Order: sequence, then C-alpha cells, then structure tokens
Amino acid sequence: MLTEFGSQDQNTIKYNNTKMVLNIIRTASGISRSEIARMTGMSPTSATRIVSDLQEMGLVKETTTSTSGGVGRKAVLLDINAESFHCAGIDISQKELLIGIVNFRGTILSTHTERIRRDPQDGITMARQIHDMYKKVLAKSYIPESSVKAVGIGTIGTVDIKSGTVLYADLLQWSNVPIRRYAEDLFGIPVSVDNEVKCALLGEIRAGNISENDDTVYITFGRGIGGAIYNNGSLVRGISNYAGEIGHAIVDYSDGRLCPCGRRGCSAAYLSEERIISKIKEVAPRISSIDELMSSFQKGEAWAIPQVERICDYISIVLSNTICYLNPANIIMGGSLIDKHPFLFDLSTAKYNNTCYEPLRISTKFKQSVLKSNSTLAGSALMAIEDYLNRRLTDLITL
Ligand SMILES: [Zn+2]
Repeated sequence: MLTEFGSQDQNTIKYNNTKMVLNIIRTASGISRSEIARMTGMSPTSATRIVSDLQEMGLVKETTTSTSGGVGRKAVLLDINAESFHCAGIDISQKELLIGIVNFRGTILSTHTERIRRDPQDGITMARQIHDMYKKVLAKSYIPESSVKAVGIGTIGTVDIKSGTVLYADLLQWSNVPIRRYAEDLFGIPVSVDNEVKCALLGEIRAGNISENDDTVYITFGRGIGGAIYNNGSLVRGISNYAGEIGHAIVDYSDGRLCPCGRRGCSAAYLSEERIISKIKEVAPRISSIDELMSSFQKGEAWAIPQVERICDYISIVLSNTICYLNPANIIMGGSLIDKHPFLFDLSTAKYNNTCYEPLRISTKFKQSVLKSNSTLAGSALMAIEDYLNRRLTDLITL
C-alpha cells in the first residue's frame, strides 16, 4: 500500500509540474529553459526533462533564436506548437448557433453561424444542426477533422457540467437535455458543456481583458440577462451551478413586471430585449427593434429619452446589487445590448456612480467585453483545449 501511495504521489507531482511548465510556456510565448527553472524553482535538469516530454508530445517547440541587440549570445526560446491540435467551440443562444475552430493558442481560425432551424428545437435536432455546421466550418478552415481533438459547448441555461446536461433553459424550452451525449454520438470526440456566460468570462480572461488574479463578474445584457463570477482563480458555481443567475434577481417589485420565468420583478423582466421592446411599443408602437429605439434616443427624440434612461437605471441597479454582494475588482459588461450600443455602458456606469453605496463606489472597475459576440465561442473552445490537455497529461503520467 505504501508503494501504491508513493507512486500516486509521484504521478500527481509529475502531472502538476508538467502542467505548470506548459502553462508558463503558454503565457510567455517565448521563454528559455533556464527562465522556466527560475520561475518554478525546479532544477535546470528537471525543467529540461519536462520540456522534452512536452516536445515529444508535440505541444511545445523551439522558436527562432533571439539575440541581445543583435550581437549577444543567441538564446533558444520555447513556445507552444499552436497548430499541434485544434478544438471546436460552440455558442448556443436563444435564436442562433455559432461555431468556430480554434488552435491550441485559442486563436479563432474560422467561424460559422446559423439561425436555429426550428423554434423550439429539441436537443437531438440541435445537435444534428451543430454537427452539420461543424462540417461547414471545417471546410472553411482547411483544418483536417483528425486534428480536432475536443469540442466545447457554451449554452444558455443551467448546466450540470459533470454529465453535460442542460438542466433548465427557459429560452430554449429545455429541461434535462443531455446535449453532451447527443453531441458526442455525432462528433465521436469528447465534448464539454457549460453555461454560456461562464464560458464567456473564461474567454475574456484568456483574451487578457482582466488578470487571472482579479475577482471579476461578467454580466451580459441581451435576449436574456446572465452573469458569471470568477473568484480566487476559478469560476464560482454554487451548489447547483446556478451562481450568477442575476437575470432572476428581483430589481423592482413596485409594478412587478412579468418575467419569462413566471415570477415578477426580475431584472430580465425589465432588461431582456424582448421585454424592452414590448414595453416600448406601449409608447411608440412603430418601434420594433432595439436598434430603432437606440437610434431614436441618439437623435434626441423626446419620447425615447426617458425610456432609455429607465433601462440604464435598471442596469445600474444590477451593477449596484452585484457590487454590494460581491465587491469584485472588475465587472465586465457584454451582450448584444451593450456591445451594439456602447453608450449604454457609459450612461449606466455614470448612474451607478451617482447612486451606489459610497464606500464601494470606486473599488470596482467597469469594462466592456473585448471579444463581444465571440466571447462564449472563445471560452467554450478554451474549455475543450483544457480538457484535451488534461487527457494528454494524464496519459503521460500513466505511461
Ligand atoms: Zn425571472
């Protein structure tokens, strides 16, 4: 038994050290073996051995040599082998599907988007549509299918990440849909599934919008209102992966507007695009889209100004409540409402600054999404990349 425990510990140490070195190389994009040894505290021999393992696996390569001022000694640097494998990332929203092929570095090489063919659409039919789209995006990217090692799906709704089941998604009319099983049957490679805002937050971190060390909340304002929380280097999931469902936090009980969830006063009842438009039609029946409303506001049409001001009031309440609960370093605001109409970001944060609880006023930085409509795709692909790397490293230690 002692031997078994001993060997297990050795394997765990080897796995963790290899992963640490790989992550350093991924972040640095050009680093020497001696610098890796210095950063990890390993001996140069150990660092070199781990780098050799990663080179043999095809994940790491030596890059062009660099010189100091053109006359110094040449140094061999290490970088990831970005095209050593590829993954697919998928974003399932209420009306549209987006798929992309990314390389090991997470760079999006090609994308394809389609409207969901039927509304509502059952899980098997959607998995088939996604797989059709996969064939199309592969053809566009010129990446051979054999190079794609894993798939990540970011979907609206609440997800059981262990089984890859969508437990509940009101906007898709889904309840207990095993989307991972459906997708794996078609793709024939491992599939990971998580909530779309949680994926989007990971995508934003990878894109460098915020530091991995910063506690951050990502809030999306669009067809629905979603949130994801990042604390101490990982996503906060709560007891059933519902943490961040800010769309159903109550922001106004006075007139109790009905939410798609069947309750009254949720932020989604005031801020989801469909609910905004249905309210606007009471004062401006000719308006049928958010774009028209925002255009009227920017032209200074008198009826539109209080309507948009009220939207920003509710956004500022969502921000204020989030900050009171979590006191994060950053709040990233994204989703189609903010991405397409960035002046809403400025108006809402200005309102927040006038109304928030004073001790908390300056502690949180507000940022806009940098990846915008690609954030969930990038994050879901990243989830697939991590899944594939974990499998490769597990294989390495069990050799
Ligand atoms: Zn609700």
